[in-house]
Amino acid sequence: MARKVKAVDIRGGNVRVDFRSRLLMTVFTVIALATAIARPASKNAAADGRDTSINPGDDFYRYANAGWLKANTVPVGQSSYDTRAMLAETSSRRVQELVQEAASAHAASGSIAQKVGDYYSGYLDQQAIDAKGLSPLADEMAKIAAISDKRSLSAYLGTTLNSEVEGLTTNADHIFGIWISQGFEDSEHNLPHLWQGGLGMPARDDYLDPSPKVVHLRNQYTAHIKTMLTLAGEEDAEAKAERILSLEIRIARAFAPDSDAADVFKQNNTWRSAEFNSKAPGLDWAAYFQSAGLSEQRDFLVWQPSAVIGVSALVRDQSIEVWKDYLRFHFLDHYAEVLASPLAAEHFAFYGAILSESQKPRDRSKEAIAATNGALGQAVGQLYMQKYFPPAAKIRAEAMVNDLIAAYRGRIANLAWMSPQTREKALAKLAALQVIVGYPDAWTDYSFDVVQGDAFGNMRRAEAFNRWRNLEKLKQPVNPIDWPINPQVPGAVIMFSPNAEFFSAAILQPPYFDSEGDSASNYGSAGAAMAHEISHSFDELGNIYDAQGRLGQWWTAEDRARYRDAAQKLVGQFNGYCPLPDLCVNGKQVLSENVADLAGLLVAHDAYVLSLKGNQDSVISGLSGEQRFFLAFAKRWRKLQTEPALRQQLKTDTHSPGEYRSDTVRNVDAWYDAYGVAPGNKLFLSPESRARIW
Ligand SMILES: [Zn+2]
Repeated sequence: MARKVKAVDIRGGNVRVDFRSRLLMTVFTVIALATAIARPASKNAAADGRDTSINPGDDFYRYANAGWLKANTVPVGQSSYDTRAMLAETSSRRVQELVQEAASAHAASGSIAQKVGDYYSGYLDQQAIDAKGLSPLADEMAKIAAISDKRSLSAYLGTTLNSEVEGLTTNADHIFGIWISQGFEDSEHNLPHLWQGGLGMPARDDYLDPSPKVVHLRNQYTAHIKTMLTLAGEEDAEAKAERILSLEIRIARAFAPDSDAADVFKQNNTWRSAEFNSKAPGLDWAAYFQSAGLSEQRDFLVWQPSAVIGVSALVRDQSIEVWKDYLRFHFLDHYAEVLASPLAAEHFAFYGAILSESQKPRDRSKEAIAATNGALGQAVGQLYMQKYFPPAAKIRAEAMVNDLIAAYRGRIANLAWMSPQTREKALAKLAALQVIVGYPDAWTDYSFDVVQGDAFGNMRRAEAFNRWRNLEKLKQPVNPIDWPINPQVPGAVIMFSPNAEFFSAAILQPPYFDSEGDSASNYGSAGAAMAHEISHSFDELGNIYDAQGRLGQWWTAEDRARYRDAAQKLVGQFNGYCPLPDLCVNGKQVLSENVADLAGLLVAHDAYVLSLKGNQDSVISGLSGEQRFFLAFAKRWRKLQTEPALRQQLKTDTHSPGEYRSDTVRNVDAWYDAYGVAPGNKLFLSPESRARIW
């Protein structure tokens, strides 16, 4: 289910970040649960990782982190280790324990624990899976065999239209994918957003790039297709594999260029259902929509028209037999993990070892956990919440969010670069913004049967349920608080459309947030992180979405000019940071994230002060509340990475290395007061040199 490594499946267990298409949403700190590694806890956790021999005004990052940096190493086979990895490890371990406990609990039939437990144990029951051999495939293979003309082909393709895509997906698992969400210009109604898809390899370039490395990858993929077909008893597998690859190359040619993904206005194409036949001739669209369950739907948002036009024409121009081979192979590949061992092993050999370059052996237990998370995400989330994020923790996190919003209200009202009318729009957008923490108040009711020892059937039923649940949304009003991430996945999802942000229970954990710990540290760490994300709703990214999440720029040209002018000081500051003798930070490349860091830190500090309600914070371990606030901010950026990883980050990432993100404090007056930083200290900036944007 989660095999397309460059696609982002924020519901599933195997989660990756792809910043190429920051259209409707942006994701931060979402880490592969399935690939997190187990490590013993840091030995000197009690010492908090500081090095008090370093003057905080000279090197705040090392004052806060040198002890930790010395005590830890980059794990073998990884390129970095940081606080995100620590969170991922914790979540991964907890989820594993919860799922395994559920599996051995033999809970009441129909309960969440029964469904989670049986989904997991059924997935692991290789003996039962192997005993069934190819028999689970029979029904669907018969349907494919019965395809006899364009009309029946179109109708069959309609049954594959699945709701597995999200705002960040680049390639749906079938020829098209569908996502139900509000429109680009209509925030009142849910609409089907139609996506390109159908490629077995994740990227368009995997099919079109003529370089020897990618040609080799295509050969490996063709061999994979051949092996899968052979294992399923198909004759003439080699020739069929060649024809399937050539069909996918044609599909890839119809894909929108990757660069289009960065421009949301290119995705805003409304097509009426009656127009598909004339705009994209080939497919029998009436038959397609009928079997997809969309015959009543009038309007569609077509994200990549070229793909819809191209694939539809391929239905007309390619032979029925080639399409049937393509469908057989993709059916096998889609369900390989719950089919007999040789198919599952071959699937991993290509998608795990070759495509994801995984050096680790296959771990069936981890695959089972990822699959359970994917199928029953909120059920696992409920188990997680009950044990690790009780209502009291949610209440504490919500109080922090309220302080952050109040702090933003104060900051926006005084922003010098926004004109008065723009400020009003920003305040209206802030008032409409929903910031939701922890877990959903209303959980998904997984009303389908999970049957012991039926891995294939369970996956089919889970997918059918998900598809039904999503299509039902077309009949319902827009629900801006429909959780796009599971509580047990450490991450946040910032939706611009609808106007809502989600912070999962698993990210609101130590070291970021301690629901029973010190407020000053919580505001400095998780608070600053949340405020960073919220700032994107009001910066150049968020500027193109209004309070209701509709497309429409609300800054004026003068606002933009003043904003860019105010941000210039940060460009200069970061250009001066050179972690390698031959390579410095590119201040322009990282500017928008640095602005968000500064906004996040300032607003979180305001919120911390608000939370005190005029009282003095206590001193803990010799540190004032102000000191602990900034210390927690610097601790969040502790990170070890290899030199190649650092080089790669400096060249391509829009985020600066952690050390310099920690140095954002140089622009905040309260930090100078908290640590007595004065002229002569290496990090000192004169008040007029400090960047003041927020
Ligand atoms: Zn950001």
